[in-house]
Amino acid sequence: SKSLAGVKGTETERTFIAVKPDGVHRGLVHKVIERFENRGYKLVGLKAVVPSRQLTEEHYADLKSKPFFKGLVDYMSNGEAPVIAMVWEGPDVIKQGRAMIGATNPLQSAPGTIRGEYCVSVGRNAIHGSDSFESAEKEISLWFGKAGELIDWKRSGSEWVISNN
Ligand code: UDP
Ligand code: MG
Repeated sequence: SKSLAGVKGTETERTFIAVKPDGVHRGLVHKVIERFENRGYKLVGLKAVVPSRQLTEEHYADLKSKPFFKGLVDYMSNGEAPVIAMVWEGPDVIKQGRAMIGATNPLQSAPGTIRGEYCVSVGRNAIHGSDSFESAEKEISLWFGKAGELIDWKRSGSEWVISNN
């Protein structure tokens, strides 16, 4: 079956983007959506989730040995605000999404990036984006594993946004 992250390097490539609880409290959901929509990317999945500790620990499994891991899992999963989980589709969306988000530490995020515009602390950096095709596959299946949660559709006017000629 087709990968949940689409086909790498084509216009069907997909990435997992999430506004984290601090970003939700701060009213940044619409700003994140606006940037990806304006760029020309297509929203194919969206939901509010309070992730279980187990889901959060799986999502961040590569960071399990880090000193900030427990605090990170607490703030993601304690339910003080949901995570707004999204899947975005389009050309090079995984790498471009990371560039739009900015460096992990907002004090190193370039002005104009989401973190560089709205954040000052690595522990409250507002947004997540998959860092590779393999991460996108893992994260989309973790957060959107159920059939029917991702929608295949054609954006009106997409011929004015994407062409290979
Ligand atoms: N994080 C943190 N302290 C650190 C590094 C990371 O609290 O010193 C948190 C932060 O929320 C970050 C997340 O852990 O977004 C995942 O870290 P990663 O290195 O994967 O950064 P990202 O992919 O989010 O840019
Ligand atoms: Mg990461």
